[in-house]
Formats: sequence, C-alpha cells, structure tokens
Amino acid sequence: MSSLQVPRGTFDVLPADAERRGVLEAQAKRILGAAGYGRIETPTFEATELFVRTVGEATDIVQKEMYTFDDGGGRSLTLRPEITAPVCRAYLEHGMHKLPQPVKLWYMSSNFRAEAPQRGRYRQFWQVGAEAIGSAAPEVDAELIVLLAQLLEALGAREMRLRLSSLGTAATRAEYREELAAYLRAHEDGLSPEVVARIDLNPMRAFDAGDRRTQETMRAAPLLLDRLADDDADHFARVRELLDDAGLRYVLDPRLVRGLDYYARTVFEFNSDALGAQSGVGGGGRYDGLIEQLGGAPTPGCGWAAGVERMLMAAGEVPVAPDVVDVFVAVAGGDAARTAFELANEARRAGMSAQMELAGRSLKGQLRHADRLGARYVAIIHDPMQANLKNMESGEQIDLQPAAVIPAILRGSRL
Ligand code: ATP
Ligand code: MG
Repeated sequence: MSSLQVPRGTFDVLPADAERRGVLEAQAKRILGAAGYGRIETPTFEATELFVRTVGEATDIVQKEMYTFDDGGGRSLTLRPEITAPVCRAYLEHGMHKLPQPVKLWYMSSNFRAEAPQRGRYRQFWQVGAEAIGSAAPEVDAELIVLLAQLLEALGAREMRLRLSSLGTAATRAEYREELAAYLRAHEDGLSPEVVARIDLNPMRAFDAGDRRTQETMRAAPLLLDRLADDDADHFARVRELLDDAGLRYVLDPRLVRGLDYYARTVFEFNSDALGAQSGVGGGGRYDGLIEQLGGAPTPGCGWAAGVERMLMAAGEVPVAPDVVDVFVAVAGGDAARTAFELANEARRAGMSAQMELAGRSLKGQLRHADRLGARYVAIIHDPMQANLKNMESGEQIDLQPAAVIPAILRGSRL
C-alpha cells in the first residue's frame, strides 16, 4: 500500500457506496421537493465570523472543532462545520425576505469538524438539511419534523426514537441560565470539574455530561421547560398537537441540549438505537434570532440537519437498482476495435447502456466478463462487415453486419 492515504477521519466514496448515497439523495429530493423545498448549495468555506457569531463562542464546534485558515490576505476563513448559518447568510445576501415567506430550502453537502474520529464520527461528513425561513407558525416546526421522519422511514432507518423539547426564547433562557448557574454553584461538590469550569460559559451543557455523579446532581436541577413564557409554551403545545395528529411518536426530553447556540423554542433530535455510541442521526429546531444576529431584520426560522453516513448506517441495507448493461461489444478480430468503439458509441446515443472490451481478453474471457456484468446482449465484432449478436438470456445467436446490431436489439429481445 502506498504511504499516502486519506487524511484521518475522512473516507473515499466508492461506486457501491455512491449508489446508496444517490438513493438517499433521490429520496430527500422527492420528499422535500414535494413539500416545496428548493435545493441550495453554499461555498465549502465561509468567513470565520459567520460561525463564531451564530453557532456560539462557547460551543464545542467553535472552541475546538473548526478548520480555520488564513486566506493569504489576512482574512480568516473556516471550512463550514454546519450549514444553517451559511443558508441564513445566503437568505440575507440574496434578499430572499422579498420572496413569499417562508422560504424553504434544502441541501446535501459536506461539513468539516476536527473531532476524534470513530465509527459514525468523521472529520468530513455529509448532511442533508432543510430550512424554512420567515415563518413563526408552529406548523413549520411540525412539518419539518414530519419530513425528516418521512425521509428516515423511506430509507428504512431502524430503531429510531424522536426526542423533543422547547428552549423558549433568548430572554427566558437568559433568566433560566442564571437560575441554573446558581443551582450548579450551590451543588459544585456533586459536579465534574469540567462542568464546574463551564458554569458561567455554558451551564446548559451540564445536562449533557457523561459522568454518573453529575447526572445524579442534575436530576433535581430546574428545567427550562417548566419556565417557558406563555406564548412559547403555547407554541410548543401546538407543535406537539400537530405531531400527535400526524401519528408521530416522540418523548419529551427537557434535558435535550443541542450543540449550537442559535436555537430557540422547539428543538428535536432523532436517535437510532442501532448505532451504538454515535446515536444522533439528525436534529434541529427553531432559530428565530439567527437572521437578526447576522444583521437582518428579526426573522423567524426553523430547520434540521441529518448525517448522511449515520442515516445510511441506521438504514442498513439500502435497496439499490442493479446496473443494467444492454450490450457488451466484444472485439474478436485484428481490426474490429474501431468498429466496436463506434458501435458502443452509437448504442449509447440510442439510449442503451453499452460497454466494449478494453482489456485485451480472449473471446472466451470477454464472454465471461459480459456475463459478470449481466449484459443482456453481446455483439461480437469480427471485422467492419461481420458480427454476431448473442442474446445472453436465451443463448440464441445470429450472424449480421455490425450496422444491423442496434436495430436488432431495438426490435426486441427475440432475435
Ligand atoms: P453528535 O452529538 O453526534 O456530536 P451533533 O449534535 O454535533 O452530533 P449536529 O451538529 O446536530 O450534530 O449535526 C446533525 C447531524 O450531523 C448529527 O445528528 C449527525 O448525524 C451528523 N454529524 C454531526 N457530527 C458528525 C461527524 N463528526 N461525523 C458524522 N456525522 C456527524
Ligand atoms: Mg458533535
């Protein structure tokens, strides 16, 4: 093996995998397209400031997961670690607030995070995401959640669970943060040192902590869900009602914390118990303050992102349509290659899938190869005037001129 390999935490997508990813992409396009979402693609890198301002200074992503570099001219750029902020930037940059609202967008693109690589956790990974910007209606939240559930179902994702919560608005959260920080300070003895160190920076993350003692202490901590302002509580109740109507099952998880600062009101996450440690398949929520943070007018928004690799892992086998080779063009004579090349081209122009011999195999080897490809026909070219056409299914074979091969195939499977 060459000493040059893919960088740690990255992977090649080989053709069989590309097929599965293509199936996923087609399902996303079908399901999101039918609900009015249009595809968007943003650049692979953005101004670093975009992520620092929106994702949040205190988050893991900004603190330690970003690939940041200087563009050579003193500007700091970052490989996108997530795509909601870039989509909101694009919404503002293209004046999409002038379009009928909400503007519905979806994407399937790669992200970059400098994380410790493990199964289901990579440094370059892909996400399918959907964003609806410009409406505060609870129907938007519910629609988005239902659409992700539909995508996961269409893929056959196994052992899925949906967790749901509400974070209220920024003001409610600020007040609650104080209350929670006070609780944490009063219980420092029962918390891990990392949690204590982050009390001021990000007290909410205490709910996320892995160690038993902290988890025990957090069991009695005040919950944001119990502190929601009336209109936030109403919004959340309505979202739940709509999900109930849609027959979607979920559990309320008041401890659900998402690793990005811009969420407000509804947050949710789909997990698969078939995945082990990295069980998060996709998640999202409402981000009503985000556009304003980017310098726009106050604009509500809601969206989700789901990991492509994790969705495929949760799906297990994704049925892929087998490749069809209509005709394999075999080269059986010294000056047959030129005719074979032309015939393969012509067959493709006629809408068939066609391959020709490219490896100098014996005729017997070529027939074996055609069989391996599952070719329906083999055209054996002897010279510019002489050929055979073999129906691989029936074994029937006829003599004909190369020019007559395509019409013969088009006439049907009977020779
Ligand atoms: P996790 O808790 O696994 O770190 P996260 O909360 O950081 O996930 P989000 O930022 O919400 O993830 O991104 C949405 C989805 O993107 C995740 O549910 C997961 O499917 C996928 N994802 C996130 N980070 C990675 C990664 N490093 N490698 C592969 N997929 C990822
Ligand atoms: Mg993460």
